[in-house]
Amino acid sequence: MIRDLFSHHIKPMMSDDAWLIVQDHYDPKCNLQYETVFGLANGYMGTRGAFEESAKISQPTTFINGVFDKSETFMRELANLPNWLGIKLYVQKQLIGIDECEVLQFTRVLDMKHSFLAKSVILRDEEGRETKVEAIRFLSRSNAHMACMKLYVTPLNYSGILEIENIVDGAVMNFEDAPRFKVKHTELVENSAIEDSGTYMEVKTRDFGMHIGVASRVRIYDQQGKDIQNNRQFRAMGETAYEFVDCDVKQNETIVIHKMASYYTERDGAKDTIKPSAINDAKALDLDTIDGEYDRHIAVYEAMWDQADIQINGDFELDRAVRYNIYQLMSTASEHDDRINLGAKLLHGEEYGGHAFWDTELFMLPFFCYVFPSTAKNLVTYRYHLLNAARQNAKDNGYKGAKFPWESADTGEEECPDWTIYPDGSCHPCFVAKYEHHVTAAVAFGAYRYFTITKDMDYFLNQGAEILLETARFWSSRFEYNPSKDHYEINQVTGPDEWHEPVDNNCYTNYLAKWNINLGLKIAKMLKRDYPKKYEVLSAKINLTDQELTDWDAIQQKVYLPVAKEGKLFEQFQGYFDHVDVVIDAYDENDMPIRPEILKTVARKDTQLIKQADVVMLMYLLGEEFDLETQRVNYDYYEKRALHGSSLSPSIYSIMGLRVGNQGMAYRYLKRAAFIDIKNLQGNTREGIHAANAGGVWKVVVFGFAGVSVDKDQRLNIDPNMPNEWEDVTFKIHYQGTAIRIKITKDNEVDVKRLGGEPMDIVVKGKVLHI
Ligand code: BGC
Repeated sequence: MIRDLFSHHIKPMMSDDAWLIVQDHYDPKCNLQYETVFGLANGYMGTRGAFEESAKISQPTTFINGVFDKSETFMRELANLPNWLGIKLYVQKQLIGIDECEVLQFTRVLDMKHSFLAKSVILRDEEGRETKVEAIRFLSRSNAHMACMKLYVTPLNYSGILEIENIVDGAVMNFEDAPRFKVKHTELVENSAIEDSGTYMEVKTRDFGMHIGVASRVRIYDQQGKDIQNNRQFRAMGETAYEFVDCDVKQNETIVIHKMASYYTERDGAKDTIKPSAINDAKALDLDTIDGEYDRHIAVYEAMWDQADIQINGDFELDRAVRYNIYQLMSTASEHDDRINLGAKLLHGEEYGGHAFWDTELFMLPFFCYVFPSTAKNLVTYRYHLLNAARQNAKDNGYKGAKFPWESADTGEEECPDWTIYPDGSCHPCFVAKYEHHVTAAVAFGAYRYFTITKDMDYFLNQGAEILLETARFWSSRFEYNPSKDHYEINQVTGPDEWHEPVDNNCYTNYLAKWNINLGLKIAKMLKRDYPKKYEVLSAKINLTDQELTDWDAIQQKVYLPVAKEGKLFEQFQGYFDHVDVVIDAYDENDMPIRPEILKTVARKDTQLIKQADVVMLMYLLGEEFDLETQRVNYDYYEKRALHGSSLSPSIYSIMGLRVGNQGMAYRYLKRAAFIDIKNLQGNTREGIHAANAGGVWKVVVFGFAGVSVDKDQRLNIDPNMPNEWEDVTFKIHYQGTAIRIKITKDNEVDVKRLGGEPMDIVVKGKVLHI
């Protein structure tokens, strides 16, 4: 058992191995990767897994979702806020730090069940003094403003004075290790002591001047619970708060340092409430405060896991990896705030600035719709709040309706930069925002999907319908009529495969655009029939006429799709088949495709190699529109040409592999997806969690191997496709208000139990079952 590596201070809190992610030796070169993997989040904020005493290679960040700033950078990005983690221990001026001492013993463990990060290290300093430090930290899910840690410090072969620095570091910046991206997003407002103990720091973002306050407090106790902290001094040094204390330590006697930090922002309340709220939390710190907070924190997590856990018997490592992906998703999303979304790297890294992409609707939202419907509602409502900005975005680009930005932060404006800097320092234009438009269809898809899974009529009538109509309107203005061919086209566009940009008539985009227009027509018809008053109000609000609907219908009937060779194979875009044909024929030890040699001489844009699922993504989303043979032909063709340069790809190839009868490939792809961050398979885990992939992993298990789907009559279907490796799989979902537990065994036997909500008919392996 992994918990046996810890002493009695932490061991009783630690879960079974199936819930633990472990780092068992220290290699500074892996610091950035583990900072992401061990990042904690609680729906409000996120802190990367940096060391308390800091390390030479480190990018500590604390983000509060929704606190964005632009300043000199290309786009509004989550602002790195004062780092609360700082605790430095000194013995006779020697820092007891991971990079300063010899590491005699090292274990770090993320406990997913209880959402805490623990470590146990023994460090030997230059004088031969050995110190054991065990620590646990968590971001409370009960009081989400609160960050807590405890450090158990034991001098193993000496006695003396231990000096302790409690640090809150407001000098942090974004992209500190990338010379030209480096940016400081906050300015110091206040850096002061809290009366007899603790620090208070207030900063504000540089663009919008949003204030953020953080109060910290430290207490030190001996084994009997006696407060042993001496000689406190506070120093405000520039943008860093230092509080120095010391205590006497004796060989083999453990002392425990408690630290609490509380964050509030102007998003939580008026400016003048920030300081009192933060200080109030911090001041409460006493011998039992963190334990009490911990109990409330794990109670929330236990309730969340009761809904969200997937148990796979038969493949222990995979079971744990699937759990890890679910853990990071559910930790980051908020059940309380509908003005924030999920960044493509969650709150675990700076890359993509905390922006929401199509990743949310097509990869993460399904998990929330089925598992945490009220959190899903927040995610779709976020888009509704930004509908006006999307209208403006359409207008600014010469279109009608609503065009959602490729990258979205707090204002709903386009946050995808027009420029990018390559590692060699050269500057290049970036065309993604200009040409990649399919996110607008994804937003519509998500809105509709949320509605069909939850039957949330209130959302549909007051938000969803408006989004669906305005996005349909956008696409009708985006299509161009080609009189010589008598069809509608979308030219100069980028599909999901960003390695070919821009192109004409990307199949995926044309098809989704057509689908979106059709859906708009269907919704208008349904509202007119069933909710005439609503329709009257809505159509007046958005100025939608019957003539316009007729025009939409005319367009959708004549959308051009580059269908292809022998009528079954779709051409990803017009002219794609004229590119150099290259197929992937070699895989590395992690089963990732090896870049074909030809890419050394031929630019990838000139080949048929693709970054990610594109035509196959289309067939995954709108499977009912393509016969199985068509899906198989396209899967076989594009699978051999997909390099999975984006983590959005493997999960889709996994599900589609199952659909077309390629179980073996499906399982391989599931493994690639499930271990992407734990094993750093994409090589860039340091930049944050691959959030869409995390959602994709859940989808592969539930929609793929467990075979959950919704049929055209809106009935839940279960038609499993269990892999040989598994004994059984068990999970829970909600469908249209009914909570269901599903267990499937190796031989595809399905056991379904209704746990709450109304009875309903579902279809299990083709037979209707009343539950
Ligand atoms: C992918 C996009 C994705 C984005 C954010 C890119 O590399 O090509 O499809 O939305 O990353 O995850």
